[in-house]
Amino acid sequence: MNKKISLFTLYVIVTFLGSTALGTEHYISQTKPEDEFRDFEVNTPEQVKQFYYQKHVNQTVEYVLSQKTKYAPLDKAYMSIWDAFKVLDSLIDESDPDTALPQIYHAFQTAEALKKDGHPEWLILTGFIHDLGKILTTFGEPQWAVVGDIYPVGCSFSEKIVLSRFLEHNPDYHNPVYQTKYGIYQPQCGLRNVHMAWGHDEYLYYVVKDYLPEEALYIIRFHSFFALHKDGAYDYLMDDYDQKMLAWLKLFSRYDLYSKADGVVIDVAAVMPYYQELVAEFFPEKLCW
Ligand code: FE
Ligand code: FE
Repeated sequence: MNKKISLFTLYVIVTFLGSTALGTEHYISQTKPEDEFRDFEVNTPEQVKQFYYQKHVNQTVEYVLSQKTKYAPLDKAYMSIWDAFKVLDSLIDESDPDTALPQIYHAFQTAEALKKDGHPEWLILTGFIHDLGKILTTFGEPQWAVVGDIYPVGCSFSEKIVLSRFLEHNPDYHNPVYQTKYGIYQPQCGLRNVHMAWGHDEYLYYVVKDYLPEEALYIIRFHSFFALHKDGAYDYLMDDYDQKMLAWLKLFSRYDLYSKADGVVIDVAAVMPYYQELVAEFFPEKLCW
């Protein structure tokens, strides 16, 4: 809790330090080697393991369907992208072994990294907002229902899923219908027809689906599906469309992950006008959440 930093505090830090941290040629110059990110075994804090135990036990087909029914109507709030950021300002992601900084900071890190490498505006915006679905926590959802890796439910769990051994405690693990290779799905049915573990990805997809290009929507919907985009699991559920989109997912993942160089100071005041314009270009003033 004491690690939380408000946007205002960041602004003060930036003002006093006079940041130049983003002046590097290629922004992904992280402070630790790439193979040390997403370490879920050797050096993983007990809190992260506990988090995944809770997540894997609770993410059943029945649960996912009930959360979709609950949130698809988008009747929980009517607010701007910036209001959602204010909410996110107080959240630290318990599932993430790579950062203890507030979420707003991760938004700026990811987007600035994409901007520095000359990516298109829609992708920079995607980087900026991709985790806004984490406001689910303010609707009373536990962290295991909001953050962490996602994976298909309703078919056999892959060993490539993070801390997959905990899935043996998921009730669906003992349901023979759900534990064949394809389960309730058809071969190559397309990931849009697969129910994923419920979290911030699918939820934000609902919120922004009328406003962003299809590549952006795909990234938002599946960016936490690491078993697929990092380890190639579940390719037998992918169709041609997924194959086409996979490259975007992989590219985005590099920025989502490796821009988390804690300690990098972003000049929030200096970059803010750019993001205000970008958000206004794609979104109405208020959205249904
Ligand atoms: Fe995320
Ligand atoms: Fe992220």
